[in-house]
Amino acid sequence: MKNWLPLLLGLILAAGLILASARDREARLAPVGAIGAPAGIGGYAPPDATRNPLAPPISRPAPAVPTLMPLSGAFTPAPPGQRPYIPILMYHYVRYVDPGADPLGYNLSVTPEQLGAQLAWLRAAGYESIRMDAAAACIRGMGPCPVRAVALTFDDGYMDAFTAALPLLQQHGYVATFYIVSGFVGQPGYMGWGEIRALRDAGMEIGAHSVTHPDLTSLGLDDIRAQVAQSGATIAAEIGAPVVSFCYPGGRFNDTVAAVASESGYTSATTTLPDGPQENPFTLPRLRVSGDLTQEGFQWMVAAYLP
Ligand SMILES: [Zn+2]
Repeated sequence: MKNWLPLLLGLILAAGLILASARDREARLAPVGAIGAPAGIGGYAPPDATRNPLAPPISRPAPAVPTLMPLSGAFTPAPPGQRPYIPILMYHYVRYVDPGADPLGYNLSVTPEQLGAQLAWLRAAGYESIRMDAAAACIRGMGPCPVRAVALTFDDGYMDAFTAALPLLQQHGYVATFYIVSGFVGQPGYMGWGEIRALRDAGMEIGAHSVTHPDLTSLGLDDIRAQVAQSGATIAAEIGAPVVSFCYPGGRFNDTVAAVASESGYTSATTTLPDGPQENPFTLPRLRVSGDLTQEGFQWMVAAYLP
């Protein structure tokens, strides 16, 4: 028997793991702008056409945030007294998933190409973007309402919000609201505070999505308050800006949960209800953009709310 073979394989594996972990640490902890952007649009290089589009994307360094930003998030205001419906789109991951291997993950993901095509169509159709803080002000009668705007929301604070969504949003001149789970920040697969501050610096809104993503309707009042208030307070302290937009984990809420969101100082809270009025800023419905939604389906879904 060749006793050295398992030892050699073990050494190769260990070296690979050390290299991979160092690369991961570098990508997550390096200051924004310190790493050169790879060739490609907005710092994001699309995958080779020869690659299987469902294969995991090649690990890439974090893109630098272009210095042309931040965007103001300004939109064309509607005449006084007019408040058109604002379609609020719900995204989770922007990545490649094999629907056969991970149906749930596929449903929660759009590819960068899908998101790019959706944003391009929104831009061509004359949609301006509105952050949830401005949308809440419009709904509450405390700020201007847009003529034709869409609100883009990204849940959970996954790393691809920074690596994939941000460059596409900037390429199309759009702002969005990112809902962060404060207790997950910096964990594998999630953004760290450096990336979240970079989103803020690019004109994006940072909202709260609880501390640990529990079903808030299953908790007692003290725990609901802790999850709702503490997440926003932690994020506000880290980004140095108020956090006024909340998103219910898993879309789960009831009257008590909504009341806590309101009394905790937020101006809006979003749900996963697919449809409904926008009268109550603490029960706002959202349109789910899932991986199996075609471009035509996306356009139809959004255009159904045209003013
Ligand atoms: Zn979530």
